[in-house]
This record gives sequence, structure tokens and C-alpha cells, in this order.
Amino acid sequence: MRICRESRDMSGQMEVTRFAPSPNGPLHLGHALSAIVAHDLAAARGGRFVLRIEDLDPVRSRAEYAAQARADLAWLGLGWHEVAPQSARHAAYAAAAARLGDEGLLYPCACSRSEIAAVATASGPEGPIYPGSCKERALAPEAPVAWRLDVAEAMRRTGPLTWHDELAGEQDADPALFGDVVLVPKEAPAAYHLAVVLDDAADGVTCVTRGADLFAASHVHRLLQALLDLPVPRWHHHPLVLGPDGDKLAKTRGSPSLAARRAAGEDGTALAQRLRKGDLPAGFSLGVP
Ligand code: GLU
Repeated sequence: MRICRESRDMSGQMEVTRFAPSPNGPLHLGHALSAIVAHDLAAARGGRFVLRIEDLDPVRSRAEYAAQARADLAWLGLGWHEVAPQSARHAAYAAAAARLGDEGLLYPCACSRSEIAAVATASGPEGPIYPGSCKERALAPEAPVAWRLDVAEAMRRTGPLTWHDELAGEQDADPALFGDVVLVPKEAPAAYHLAVVLDDAADGVTCVTRGADLFAASHVHRLLQALLDLPVPRWHHHPLVLGPDGDKLAKTRGSPSLAARRAAGEDGTALAQRLRKGDLPAGFSLGVP
């Protein structure tokens, strides 16, 4: 007999959580915590834990890092359902961008990062806030452009929005924090903000679990969900694993990888148990930088 452990709430909805690593480097302790939080929330609620490989960036994504991520999850003792990677979803991104464009909510921008840094007068969660320089000017037809969301117009159409974080409570959406975000970059099929809301909806994610470093991004995601008529999940932004310097771990700063721990013969399920209890290896702590 097959025992089905998945269950649904009173509305008939099953909890679906996800872990969505970008395969552009080896995973570290912070990723392990993220995966464990998402996995355990789904397990406690009789739901499903989904793995989605976020290989949106064609230049930095590597199949070997995706394979390593799967091996890391197995080593930590987690089971998962894998869904389509972002590289298989370009058509959905293009359709959503076309819809927003047809609705007059996107405008082209030819600025480089350095041009924006030179003219910006304010800074947001992703760096200098774009002051809208290209909004009113005519661009050379051959100039490569990114497509930005006209956030003020978008918010005028949706009206005030709220979203709910299971740890931080009810939030008033404030997407203007980021300025007019890029939804389609010059050289990729979609930007993170657009891809992730489409993917979470397509995967039936009911609770978006991820680190608190992405808390502010949820303001933008809530706006995009409203514009694209997508279901609105709950969010669960958990504290981050901080390194000895008190800063969040980063693939690029050479944080010790899970693969290296695995190769050194460390017991992954024992490590997972320690992380569940907030008992971190020496030098690491939990917090929000
Ligand atoms: N792909 C992102 C990362 O690896 C995570 C995005 C998310 O959880 O929304 O940092």
C-alpha cells in the first residue's frame, strides 16, 4: 500500500515550499539552512518541498553546480520534488513581459551601471536607484536596451497592496524602494524579480521560504503578482547564517562549501540536525546583517 503523507488545508490547498539555488557556485551553510527551513515547513504541514534550479543567467550557470546542489541536499538527508529549471521557462517570461509592455507598464532603458551610479541621488536594496533618465528621452534604435517597470504607474493601477511574512507579519507593499526595476535585462530572458514570481506561481508555491536578505524583494514581487493576476503566496524570510565577520555568506567570498564538507567526510544529516537547533559550527551565527 502506498502511504500518502501530503495533506491539504481547509481550502483544499496543499502547502508547497521551495529551495531555488542559482547554480553559479557551490552551496554554503546559508543554503543548507534555507533548504532545511523550506523542507521542514513543508514536512510539518503535510506539504511538498520543491527544488528549482535558477539557471537564469546563461553565462554564470553551470550544470555541475546544479548536480552538486542535488548531492548536497541528499547529503543533508532531505528529499525533494524537482521542477523545471528556469532555462526551460523562457517562453513564459517573454509572454509576461509582452503583456506588461502591451499594458504600457514597461519602458526601454539604455543606461549602463556606471551611468546610473553617476546620476543616482538615492540608494535602494540593490544599489543606486535609477532616476528614470530614459523614460522621456528618445533612444537610438540600435541601442541595446533593458526593459524597466514604471513602478509609479503600476502602483497607481493596482492601488495599495499588502503581503504577509510568517515571521515579520503583515507588510504594506513598498515596491518604490527599488525604483523602476529592470524586468528584462539587456542580455538575459528575464530578471530575477519577473522570473521568480512566474516560477513560484507555476510551481504552485504557497509559502515562499528564503533568507531575510531577499525580504525587500518581496515588495516588488507582490506588485508583479497583482499586475499579472498571479496567486499570492505567504512568505517566510528566515535569519541568515553569518560568517566570522558578521556578514552574510557568499559564494563569491569563498565561504566553505557544503561540497567541501561532504568531501571531507562530515556527516550531513548530523549537520542538518545542528542547523535545525540553531547550533552552528564555530565562527558562524544566525542573524540579519
Ligand atoms: N536564486 C536565488 C539565490 O540563489 C534565490 C531566489 C529566491 O529564493 O527567491 O540566491
